Amino acid sequence: MNGPLDPEAGAEAEALNAAQTAEAAEGFRAVHGGEPTGIWAAPGRVNLIGEHTDYNDGFVMPLALPHTTRVAAARRDDGVLGLHSADVSGGTVRLPAEKLAPGTADGWAAYPAGVVWALREAGLLSGREGGADLYIRSDVPTGAGLSSSAALEVATAVALNDLYGLGLAPERIARLCQRAENEFVGVPCGIMDQMASACCTAGHALHLDTRDLAARQVPFDLAAAGLRLLVVDTRVKHALGDGEYARRRAGCEEAAAALGVAALRDVPYGELDTALAGLADPALRPLVRHVVTENRRVEEVVGLLDAGDPRSIGPVLTAGHASLRDDFAVSCPELDLVVETANAAGALGARMTGGGFGGSAVVLVEAAGAEEVGAEVADAFDAAGHPAPRLFEAVPSTGARRLDG
Ligand code: ADP
Ligand code: MG
Repeated sequence: MNGPLDPEAGAEAEALNAAQTAEAAEGFRAVHGGEPTGIWAAPGRVNLIGEHTDYNDGFVMPLALPHTTRVAAARRDDGVLGLHSADVSGGTVRLPAEKLAPGTADGWAAYPAGVVWALREAGLLSGREGGADLYIRSDVPTGAGLSSSAALEVATAVALNDLYGLGLAPERIARLCQRAENEFVGVPCGIMDQMASACCTAGHALHLDTRDLAARQVPFDLAAAGLRLLVVDTRVKHALGDGEYARRRAGCEEAAAALGVAALRDVPYGELDTALAGLADPALRPLVRHVVTENRRVEEVVGLLDAGDPRSIGPVLTAGHASLRDDFAVSCPELDLVVETANAAGALGARMTGGGFGGSAVVLVEAAGAEEVGAEVADAFDAAGHPAPRLFEAVPSTGARRLDG
């Protein structure tokens, strides 16, 4: 199993920080020459509950992973942006910070360049300022739905925030990074990923209202409760995902308009049946039912965690999966197999996480049974002829931070 499954992992965090700091500094020296001014890190995330709610102005509940993207950085006052990622081949990309505009950077470099562009657009870096040398290194799996893109953006933004003394609050950083991804990279993502990477704290999940970004840290100390949250990356990415995502989104907007509300978040749970009966198009009903019940499930999970009862969230997670599978129709056989197998093997609950049509599932298990549940899922994939899934442990971890000093 990848990632820390060792209960002592928390105690090893400091040693890991030191090793990652040293590695990033060494990488920076080798690529850019000279010393980095500092090393910053931002995590990937996984969403515990609240799926397909963000574009309905609803609630989400992500937690930060122990997996991070590190940026070793130093300011340059000649306006040059020097970008190097140890995780991709192709050497160092050099761009003029002053001339950045959507379309001027390709591929992975668009993520950090987009952050510099967003800072400049906001009037935060002016004149020939805004240059920097960056060395990037990550252990957030890419394309597994764990938000390596937000980790890269937020790590870049916190580095520039400190290098240029901008004093930006985490929420502002998240919004600037979302703008970079939406407008510079061209991906229409919501705000959850960047908020999670910028704002999460260890031992908590972030209860986030995507309408106004009101956020609260909710206690979710799995280790203290004798629990583990596994992330199972199915390694499936169906090509139909993007088109289906757009279709669900359009369906939700249509339903909100038909119901006369700004967003489906405004349909109270107690009025769900009336709302469903009032929809002329029956195809919209399951979409509305998912969004309204999912927002309710987020509130349920928050209530249970606040009451110190993390075990009880298991069935709520599984109910969320059923809703995504049956009503929202965004699951796939591999994700269903994870949930069914894990629950049959004694998990407390499980659900797909992320947009669906592949990607990852989360499984809540008793710590003592984690290895067995993981093994059963791997066996079931083997028996069904699917490629082996990748397993990680999601230890609720710290959001973006400076690693050194
Ligand atoms: P996810 O965010 O779910 O991992 P995305 O498709 O949104 O998937 O983002 C993945 C992309 O982000 C990669 O294809 C790459 O362009 C960029 N990226 C993420 N991490 C790194 C990294 N460490 N170095 C270079 N590029 C990265
Ligand atoms: Mg992403």
